[in-house]
Amino acid sequence: MKTIKLKPKKEESILRHHPWVFSGAIATLPNDLEEGELVKVLSADGRTLGIGHFQIGSIAVRLLQFGDKDLPEDFFRQRLDAAFRLRQALGLIRPDNNCYRLVHGEGDFLPGLVIDIYGDTAVLQAHSPGMHYERMRIARALTEIPEARIRNVYYKSETTLPYKARLDPQNDYLIGKFDGNIAIENGLKFNIDWLKGQKTGFFVDQRENRALLEKFAHGRNVLNMFCYTGGFSVYAMRGGAAQVDSVDSSAKAAALTDANIELNFPGNPRHKTHAVDAFKFLAEMEKDKYDLIILDPPAFAKHRSALKNGLIGYRKLNAKAFEKIKSGGILFTFSCSQVVTREMFRLAVFTAASQSGRKVRILHQLTQPADHPVDISHPEGEYLKGLVLYVE
Ligand code: SAH
Repeated sequence: MKTIKLKPKKEESILRHHPWVFSGAIATLPNDLEEGELVKVLSADGRTLGIGHFQIGSIAVRLLQFGDKDLPEDFFRQRLDAAFRLRQALGLIRPDNNCYRLVHGEGDFLPGLVIDIYGDTAVLQAHSPGMHYERMRIARALTEIPEARIRNVYYKSETTLPYKARLDPQNDYLIGKFDGNIAIENGLKFNIDWLKGQKTGFFVDQRENRALLEKFAHGRNVLNMFCYTGGFSVYAMRGGAAQVDSVDSSAKAAALTDANIELNFPGNPRHKTHAVDAFKFLAEMEKDKYDLIILDPPAFAKHRSALKNGLIGYRKLNAKAFEKIKSGGILFTFSCSQVVTREMFRLAVFTAASQSGRKVRILHQLTQPADHPVDISHPEGEYLKGLVLYVE
């Protein structure tokens, strides 16, 4: 195996088990090193620090294992087994819940890999060339976890791999094929479109936050902004909301929401979908109409360079909701931008609240669920934050 040598003192974060080696930390690397290759990382004084996947870019190596041992032959099998046992321990695998995240990248010590499970289908996403090359081995290892009962593995990495790597990944089944597509989350049914949908087809990361929303929904007029598949709307319906309006600018998302409402509450007149821009809807909607509003927009700041504008976006969006929500209303507001910290998001929402002159209290502080764990050595793994607010 080829080796990379670090500059003096650059081993410190790795000794604390942070899994990324930045390109600026590297003293020497072989000329013929290919993207996606396994490499051994050495400190300046020649100690082996770990083994990882090399790639071109500011994160040059994603470490799979620390220390001086070789990777075991059944490395993926071992890591996937451990990930599965954790989800079992979390109580996520039940007759009334068959969708969950099995692998959350660094949070499951598998940097560059995401796997979501929908019934007996796994949707696999590679975020690094190394994981792309390992996709078949990973797919086979998945089907070998007996209790997971995974029969189909769909590979979906066209949008997640670095474009410059020219890997030309095809979204396709690696194993099996599936002809139905209904997943069950907390007893509710969802059509999952992993072929055409965003991410792996569904946002499993909002499961617990949706369940909390259900408890607030009784008798309320609910507005679910950025609804995508209508997850929050379906829970609000079950929670006994008086009326639910779902908004998404994508006509496809609006159709997905309609289909999921119909699947769970056929012919129910309490729900309506609006395929319009969220800011336009908020500007035009009647004041005091809604007393439960959900704001779950796409990441406004995808990179550090977009941070300032992203924070302005969150402030403006929340200000509109504060301006219009009925007195005694509840606001569920989220940010899934990794570069926006919990404190920054809270400050943006606070600024919006104070501009609107409303009295606002924090009832709950929300985060990603336990099947999206954060490796304590890798705080960058924390991305979802939310606030449940009581607005007087
Ligand atoms: N709340 C959803 C996930 C939201 S994903 C869930 O629980 O599953 C973000 C959604 O915002 C996408 O469906 C996207 O189509 C929509 N979107 C992006 N920009 C928008 C805009 N300006 N107005 C309305 N919807 C928008």
